Order: sequence, then structure tokens, then C-alpha cells
Amino acid sequence: MSQQGVLLVLSGPSGAGKGTICKELLQSLPELKYSISATTRAPRTGEVHGVNYLFVSREEFTGMIDKDELLEWAEVYGNYYGTPCHYVEQQLNNGQDVVLEIDIQGAMQVKKKFPQGIFLYIMPPSLEELADRIYKRGTDSLEVIKKRLSCASGELSCAQNYNYIVVNDEVAQAVKKVQAIIVAEKCKATRNLDCINNLCKSTAK
Ligand code: 5GP
Repeated sequence: MSQQGVLLVLSGPSGAGKGTICKELLQSLPELKYSISATTRAPRTGEVHGVNYLFVSREEFTGMIDKDELLEWAEVYGNYYGTPCHYVEQQLNNGQDVVLEIDIQGAMQVKKKFPQGIFLYIMPPSLEELADRIYKRGTDSLEVIKKRLSCASGELSCAQNYNYIVVNDEVAQAVKKVQAIIVAEKCKATRNLDCINNLCKSTAK
């Protein structure tokens, strides 16, 4: 049986650049798979059902909760978001690595179920820079932007519950750091017990 894949959980305040970092990681690491979340949020211009999110109604979402189909779920900025568990479990069991891009509430639920995952928090260099990035992104209304910014400082204080913090000052550097963390995780002795045992057996002959 192949070794279980690594579960990477990325969080960070809106505008910290998790989406960009995630995209770069997926392009550079072919064995890394993206878990598509379900959400009750309306699609933004250019977003596609089944690619960016599974866009579902509130009834469909509560149905998924009732059927125990979600690994975690949370209400974020007034909408529901959740991770379908089937895909994540299937990929990990096939030895593929999986990345979840989810909020803190969801990440802490996953941490209870998968403490062996990598929990990584993407920080903006400053709150001013964060505000600037959200305004420049231009994908949300002023009301939504204000809601997201007012949540940011509270969210940042929860970062200590993660295993790693990466400050996204410069995307290429931040991506390199996340890649290095994944490599280090794969080299952990606890993930390589079979390799150690096989080597010990062959040298004992
Ligand atoms: P956005 O609406 O900007 O796409 O996402 C809003 C927030 O919801 C982000 O912090 C994002 O990480 C989070 N999010 C996206 N998918 C999920 C999910 O499946 N579960 C949880 N708990 N949060 C999610």
C-alpha cells in the first residue's frame, strides 16, 4: 500500500494571498490535489461551479451536514463553507497530497480529526497592506470588504494554533517556504518507518 499523502491546511485573513500561493503550489507540485469546497456564497465573476467551489443552496448545504458528508464546515462572513470528506480521504489514501484552503474555524475542526496534517497560516506583512490588497482586488462590495477587514485582526491572533506561519511579503518567497515545509514533513522519521525497517532488514542479512 502506498504511504498516506500529506494534508496541507492553509488559512489566513482575506487578502493575505492564500489563493495565489495555493495556485502556485498546485502548478509546481503535480502530486498536490486541491479540495474543492462547497459554499452557499454566490459565484463571483469568472468563478465556475466544480472548479472554484461547489456552489450550493442553503438546503443542499444543510443536507450535506445531515448526511455527514463534510469533513468540516463553518459560517464565514455570512455564508456557509465546507470540505466534502470523500475526496480528501480518497486522495490521501491513494498517497496523493491534498491542500485545503479554509478558515480558522474549519482548520481547527480538521486539526482534531487529522492532527498529523500541516496547519499553515499565511500572514500579511501588515494590516495596511492587507486593506490595500483587498481594495485593489476589487472582487467584493465595500460592505463585504469592511466586514472582512474588521474580522482580520481577531483572526490574526488565532495564528498561534497553527504549526507554521508564513508571511506573504513576496509571493515567490512565500511559495518557496511552503514547499520547504512540505518537503520537511515528508522527511519526518514518523512518515518513513517502512523505509527505516526495510533498510535495517537488508543490512542485517
Ligand atoms: P471566499 O469567499 O473569499 O472565497 O472565502 C472566504 C473564506 O472562506 C476564506 O477565508 C476561505 O479560506 C474560507 N473557506 C473557503 N472554503 C472553505 C471551507 O471549505 N471551509 C471553511 N471552513 N472555510 C472555507
